[in-house]
Amino acid sequence: MAAKKGLEAQRERTEEIIAILKRTYPDAKCALDHSSPLELLVATILSAQCTDARVNIVTKDLFKKYKTAKAYAAAPAGVLEKDIQSTGFFNNKAKSLRGMGAAIADEHGGKVPDTMEELTKLPGVGRKTANVVLGNAFGKNIGVVVDTHVTRVSNRLGLTKHAVDAVKIEQDLIKIVPQAEWTLFSHLLIHHGRQICQARKPKCESCPLLELCPAGKKFIAAEAKKKK
Ligand code: SF4
Repeated sequence: MAAKKGLEAQRERTEEIIAILKRTYPDAKCALDHSSPLELLVATILSAQCTDARVNIVTKDLFKKYKTAKAYAAAPAGVLEKDIQSTGFFNNKAKSLRGMGAAIADEHGGKVPDTMEELTKLPGVGRKTANVVLGNAFGKNIGVVVDTHVTRVSNRLGLTKHAVDAVKIEQDLIKIVPQAEWTLFSHLLIHHGRQICQARKPKCESCPLLELCPAGKKFIAAEAKKKK
């Protein structure tokens, strides 16, 4: 019973956090430019270990050149690698794009599938990438995208006790975040992580979540101690 009470309290607190973040970041959305599920899938694969801004620069030309899954599958050796070079890890990413393109062309009639099961069977597509595509291209809240910002901010806010394992963090979050908000919740935390709750120097003094954040009070106390 006590545990249930705890979970209910945590849900309420999470809803308050979401309401404040919605007011703070009313335009929060997926930062990867795309106009179709295929484009978002490609951009998400390219975003591994790369900034969204860099991916958007690369995909501006890439999407004009490769318009179908088949086009990625048929990209000549060395050419696709060069096209995506500046996103880093380009050999692995090109391999994923070719494999993903071939699987979609051969097994899904050229259309990106819209289930977690089918998406995660595609080469180079893990649960995080599938969640991004399902939430943002298909409007399906199947899970919560857990990236470095979501990991850090949800830990500081005390929404999970898992510091590293993205699957366990996601499991904690889906228990307390309303399902209709799963996709938006990630965008809100990513925006907050970029703008205020930064890794090295979180701006706790000006954070709208301070009253609800256990870590914020500790950060402020530690800063005050340093100044003495
Ligand atoms: S109070 Fe500080 S640690 Fe907490 S969410 Fe805000 S910036 Fe992050």
